[in-house]
Order: sequence, then C-alpha cells, then structure tokens
Amino acid sequence: MSKDIATPIRTKEIMKKYGFSFKKSLGQNFLIDPNILHNIVDHAGLTKEQGAIEIGPGIGALTEHLARASKKVVSFEIDQRLLPILEDTLSPYDNIKILQSDVLKANIGSVIEEEFAGTEDVMVVANLPYYVTTPIILKFLTENLPIKGLVIMLQKEVADRIAAAPGSKNYGSLSIAIQYYTEAATVMTVPKTVFMPQPNVDSAVIKLMKRAKPAVEVKDEEFFFVITRSSFSQRRKTILNNLTSQLPEGKAKKESILSALEEANIDPTRRGESLSIPEFGALADALYPYFN
Ligand code: SAM
Repeated sequence: MSKDIATPIRTKEIMKKYGFSFKKSLGQNFLIDPNILHNIVDHAGLTKEQGAIEIGPGIGALTEHLARASKKVVSFEIDQRLLPILEDTLSPYDNIKILQSDVLKANIGSVIEEEFAGTEDVMVVANLPYYVTTPIILKFLTENLPIKGLVIMLQKEVADRIAAAPGSKNYGSLSIAIQYYTEAATVMTVPKTVFMPQPNVDSAVIKLMKRAKPAVEVKDEEFFFVITRSSFSQRRKTILNNLTSQLPEGKAKKESILSALEEANIDPTRRGESLSIPEFGALADALYPYFN
C-alpha cells in the first residue's frame, strides 16, 4: 500500500510538484489527516461489493481510501487542473474513474447505470465544496437515484440544521427537506486544523441513510414543501400568521387556513419549529384543497 496522499508532507510535496494553487471560489480545502479519512470511510460502512460516488476528489485524499474499501469509485471533479495530478496520485489504484464535470450538471442516474452495473449498493461519500453543499445534497435526494445513502463532510452549522429535531432552534425547512428522504445524524465534528488551507468555519460529517419510503405520505410533495417553507418564513411568528402572509391570497383565505389547522389537529398559535414531519404532512394535505 502506498503512503497516504493526505499526510501533510505528501500533500505539500504534490502541491509543489504541480505548482498547484487553491481556488477559494471552488471550496478547495483539502484534508491532511489520514485518521479523519479512515473514520469517514468507516461511517460509510463500504464493502468490496459496493460502489462509491465522490464529489470533488481534490488531489485524491479521500478517493484512495474509498478505492481501498469499495469495489469501484466514481468521482466528479470540476477543476481540470486537478486531472493530471489525480492521474499521478491515484495511479496505484485500478478501480477509480474520474469524471471532469460540475456535479450539479451531471446526469447522475445514467452514470450510476453505466458505471455501477453489478454493484450491490452505491454510497455517496465526500468532503463537499462548502459553497454548494445544499444544492448537491438536494440533487442526490430529489432525483430518485438508486443510492443507499450519503456520508459527507460539510459546514457544522449546516449539519446542525439538517439533523435538527422539532423544537430545537436549528430545526427548519432544510431539516424537513432532508429528513423527508433520509434518517439524518451527525457522526463526527471536525476541527479546522485538519484542512489545508484551513476553512473559516467548523466542519462536521453527517450520515444520511435513504428511507425506504418518505417520512410521511402526502397528496402533493411540491405543495408539502411550499407549506414547510412558508411555515418558517419568520421563525417568531405563529404558524397561522406565517401561512396567511406567505400563501397566495392567504389573508383572504384565513378562515380556510384555520379550518385546515383544526382538521390537522394543530393549534394555530404554535410555531413552525414545534411541528413534526407527520404534522406538516397532515397540515399540507388539509390545506391542499383550498390552494389547488
Ligand atoms: N476530497 C478532497 C479532500 O477531501 O481533500 C477535496 C475536497 S474540497 C473541500 C472540494 C473539491 O470539490 C475540490 O476539489 C473542488 O475543486 C471540487 N468542486 C468544487 N465544486 C465542484 C462541483 N460543482 N462539481 C464537482 N467538483 C467540485
């Protein structure tokens, strides 16, 4: 087994050899601690029968750990300057495919079909570029992809919002958008010192395991998300006030909103942050006939 890419000495050597300069605009903060990488890959629970998708390999720090633990790794990298470097650093492995592409524009469904035929399961494992964390996670969850789950490093503040439970100050429409599709848990917090260069924010690793079915069955998914977003538009306001001010013709339809709240058994003076996902589901279904 070759020496880990992620040791601080080897990372510095690689950067120097290729004269590579970090692009802050691409969220380039590389991991320089092999222990952290071991732990991330452990949390993904990969086997040699399973595949891994990575977003943003950088110089290959996490990629090589994924290659050792899985059957095959497919990794999306936007920065073409990294391609010759990856070719060099990952040359000891024959089960890695690097795709030069903006992951947000990629057709992940067909990549999975083409690259992972005959693979038991696919996990997404990544140290995400922090400027696009939420769009990337939502893309992987809303496109109905055959993935088992995601184990990803991101800003701690965003991880806290994603994994928050009802009643906590971090619980909001992002928690619901992600917990609708997955069981979410923060599995590690990570200090700034394990990155080169160090980011301005603290980091965490979050594990999102796809549910067999969404957390609640609703009449119309899009409308359900409109209701959850509207309910948190002003956190200090009651659910009734947020819905009347946010929904189309909400003020004129106040009586209908009150009836729907009653039908869903929700006190109109409660705040959005106190409602569970099943309660939001019941509320969206009760409101649906009045707004569609
Ligand atoms: N995996 C490496 C590590 O842990 O050291 C690098 C992680 S770094 C936080 C994020 C990586 O994502 C960078 O290599 C960056 O160039 C890449 N990246 C940024 N935006 C991207 C996008 N839209 N699509 C694919 N890769 C992207």
